Amino acid sequence: MTKRIGIIGAGTAGLHLGLYLRQHDVDVTIFTDRRPEDYAQSRLLNTVAHHAVTLERETKLGVNHWPGEEYGYFCHHYYIGGPQPLVFRGDLKSPSRAVDYRLYLPRLMEDFLERGGKIEYKELKSEDIATLGTRFDLVVVCTGKGPLGQMFQHQPDHSPFDRPQRVLCVGLFKGIEQSPTRGVTMTFSPGHGEMIEIPTWTMDGMGSALVLENIPGGDLEELGRVKYDDDPKAFIALLLAKLRKHHPTVAERVDERRFDLVRDGRDLLQGGVTPTVRSTHVSLGDGKMAIALGDVHAVVDPVLGQGANIASYAALIMGEEIVAQEVYDERFCERVNLRRQDRVLAATRWTNYMLTNLRTLPMELQKFIFDVSQNRCLADEFTDNFNYPERQWDCFASPERMAAWAATRIQANDAARPRARAANA
Ligand SMILES: Cc1cc2nc3c(=O)[nH]c(=O)nc-3n(C[C@H](O)[C@H](O)[C@H](O)COP(=O)(O)OP(=O)(O)OC[C@H]3O[C@@H](n4cnc5c(N)ncnc54)[C@H](O)[C@@H]3O)c2cc1C
Repeated sequence: MTKRIGIIGAGTAGLHLGLYLRQHDVDVTIFTDRRPEDYAQSRLLNTVAHHAVTLERETKLGVNHWPGEEYGYFCHHYYIGGPQPLVFRGDLKSPSRAVDYRLYLPRLMEDFLERGGKIEYKELKSEDIATLGTRFDLVVVCTGKGPLGQMFQHQPDHSPFDRPQRVLCVGLFKGIEQSPTRGVTMTFSPGHGEMIEIPTWTMDGMGSALVLENIPGGDLEELGRVKYDDDPKAFIALLLAKLRKHHPTVAERVDERRFDLVRDGRDLLQGGVTPTVRSTHVSLGDGKMAIALGDVHAVVDPVLGQGANIASYAALIMGEEIVAQEVYDERFCERVNLRRQDRVLAATRWTNYMLTNLRTLPMELQKFIFDVSQNRCLADEFTDNFNYPERQWDCFASPERMAAWAATRIQANDAARPRARAANA
């Protein structure tokens, strides 16, 4: 039987699913409101880092055009501000990598077309979805944060916030020297916000994404509102002053003469994300289903860089189930959900935990950060676990788990040390 799958949306979720299905000769049509040539002129969409687990998926899909060893980064540099700042580093086992999605998505659309995928360019409305049910065996909805996703019900149990928790100011910049070992810098200014500096392949070569996650009411909040285009020099001067005060390990690498957005005001994004989980599927009638994927299913704040990585993970699980099964009914949706939900929900919970607790720094988090800052093995494991949000949630789900996670590892390291010394003697 020929399987016909309709995918609405050509982001990471839709493209990774579409490419996987083409590898298995499934008849796939993607619907999107953007043509590949539209991306070059558009405003910055996001600043996405793909972790090693996602790069592995890209390699299997034959679309790893920007290998991690050449374009990626190898570690996290941490800076926790306060009266006695903590500065430490954790290494990744394999590199992660960030490419401007205005380069990444159109390139993968071309790959999809070359491999026999079909793309129809139109903006779909919710009333179009039922009609698609008559054309396809299954309709996958991955239109990101836009209104179409609202056809899936908001799940209050998994969505604790009704508004964004940070005022975002996000841009692609030139004039920031990379750290000696190319890495993401995660810097925390207690009470004011977090910043993630990501080495990023841009339309102008290697640059730096700055993701300023500003706490409402804090000293950095205005960065989410001041307009670059009104007065570019004043905006850059304000940003530099805030970096010096709140994120000094990045400010010290800024070359003031060159520091600016990579191209122009289109390289800046301001706003906020309301973390939201939606129900996973709806019936279209006549036995046909629409299933949610990517941000339509679960949107997370970007502070821990999880959204696209879990979208890609869930896309490949969905692809495997589409290939393995013949009937796309409730049971199909249930099987997909059971396989994807641990990682997807863990990413939302861990991110929501950090959004709340980085603000108030409860004792157990202070102790956790201190332990990780003093012990390189802990820092490396915590850093590599950005690949595996379910492992992070295994650690962060309760104060007891956080204490146990650190204590067992410190004990194991202490026990191993005399043995290593004896072996070297
Ligand atoms: C500032 C920022 C930084 C981020 N950093 C990271 C990070 O470091 N790591 C990470 O993993 N994630 C990150 N994310 C999250 C990541 O961007 C998203 O999770 C991911 O892009 C979601 O992919 P998607 O395919 O679900 O949706 P999208 O990428 O939003 O794609 C939606 C697609 O649907 C199309 N579409 C929308 N509406 C319609 C319609 N009505 N009809 C037809 N087509 C339609 C769009 O054109 C697009 O092709 C970040 C997000 C932001 C905002």
